[in-house]
Amino acid sequence: MLKEYKYIIVGAGIAGCSTAYFLSKYSDSILLIDRNCDLAQGASGAAGAFLSPLLGKPNKFKDLVTEAIKFSTKFYLENTPKDITNCGVVRIPKNQEDEDKFQSYKPYMDFEYEQMESGYYFDIGSQVNSYNICKVLAKDVEKLFKYEVTNIEKKDDSWIVNNKFKAKNLILTTGADISLIDEDYFNIRAVWGQKIDIYTSTKTTKNYHKECSLSHSTYIDEKNINLTSIGATHHRIDEDLKICNHCLNSFKNESSYSKQRAKEDCEKLISLANDIKVLEDVEVCDIKIGPRASSLDYFPMIGQLIDSKTTIEKYPHLVNGSHVKDEMLINFDNLYVLNGVGGRGYVLSPYLAKNLVENIINKSEIKAEIKVHRMFKRWVKKSKITK
Ligand SMILES: Cc1cc2nc3c(=O)[nH]c(=O)nc-3n(C[C@H](O)[C@H](O)[C@H](O)COP(=O)(O)OP(=O)(O)OC[C@H]3O[C@@H](n4cnc5c(N)ncnc54)[C@H](O)[C@@H]3O)c2cc1C
Repeated sequence: MLKEYKYIIVGAGIAGCSTAYFLSKYSDSILLIDRNCDLAQGASGAAGAFLSPLLGKPNKFKDLVTEAIKFSTKFYLENTPKDITNCGVVRIPKNQEDEDKFQSYKPYMDFEYEQMESGYYFDIGSQVNSYNICKVLAKDVEKLFKYEVTNIEKKDDSWIVNNKFKAKNLILTTGADISLIDEDYFNIRAVWGQKIDIYTSTKTTKNYHKECSLSHSTYIDEKNINLTSIGATHHRIDEDLKICNHCLNSFKNESSYSKQRAKEDCEKLISLANDIKVLEDVEVCDIKIGPRASSLDYFPMIGQLIDSKTTIEKYPHLVNGSHVKDEMLINFDNLYVLNGVGGRGYVLSPYLAKNLVENIINKSEIKAEIKVHRMFKRWVKKSKITK
């Protein structure tokens, strides 16, 4: 007998938890599944979880990040006030070229700033507690951990998950692991990275960003020391996407993510952080790693998945590069994704989840630049060349 839900969400990182939060306003029949033993054990557990503005000349990606950071900052302050520290961020140019760029961006700043120390202070900058945020967002939905989804299939008008669960709607928020999606146009690159927490006698009152991010510190009374995070490194490596932060357990167990890499990343991060502020009596107290899920054009991908085979069968001329209208694309009924949030998952996810849920429930439009459809359209046009 299949257990039935109205919605099943696969993946309990910030994308899945944000989706669970907005969906729970409409339904009490939601199951959130993850193969890890808890929430936020993939990329979401590794994030320094800084919310920092994107600087630059006007473009659609910057507009998206600006809209999302405004939305998410307000959202976290209202819904998870204990887990956001809105203490601002000082952006420090890393060299003269960077400083020149900053000067050229001045007419296009989306947020107030002032010159401070050797950089520019933006009071929009925040840091959130990644695990606690996910916990609060997913609190009202049923959760199933240590459960790997290996099979999804459509039967009648429902999605069957591992032949065990049945749901009218299935939402995949699986981050860098897109093995459940058998569609060539849906592509994600994993960009692995490491964040560390350190004890230091140096107090820091704001967040900083130069070549790495250094967080404000929290004073730990019983140790008479400050706790500070430093993030993050970037590696485009082919790694086992099932590695999670819990199973690493501070690298006590052997894992394919090499201890040598972790050690080198610690040294690198401490050295980059010292270039921002000299940190005294440093002791690394936690290491987290994770794969950022980056789309090919760096924009996120949300909405219904397109069934490429059925679409092309119905409109074979699409592969000759004909113009493709969204209405022509045939979706998999009630199969949705929220993915490709890259290095800004905590900035983008609440904003995107709100958009996705409004689309699912109220059929509201999703902007073209964040809709899955664009990936199919580009892919199908290219398939003419490769044919
Ligand atoms: C080192 C580092 C630092 C970062 N710093 C920041 C930052 O400062 N600010 C910021 O906004 N973002 C930051 N990010 C990016 C942010 O962490 C990601 O964008 C975000 O966590 C992605 O969330 P997600 O939910 O899409 O993916 P994930 O958190 O990876 O969640 C996906 C989940 O899906 C589960 N899953 C996958 N397949 C299956 C399956 N078949 N069955 C069951 N479960 C499955 C996985 O176990 C995983 O838990 C950082 C990332 C890294 C790695």
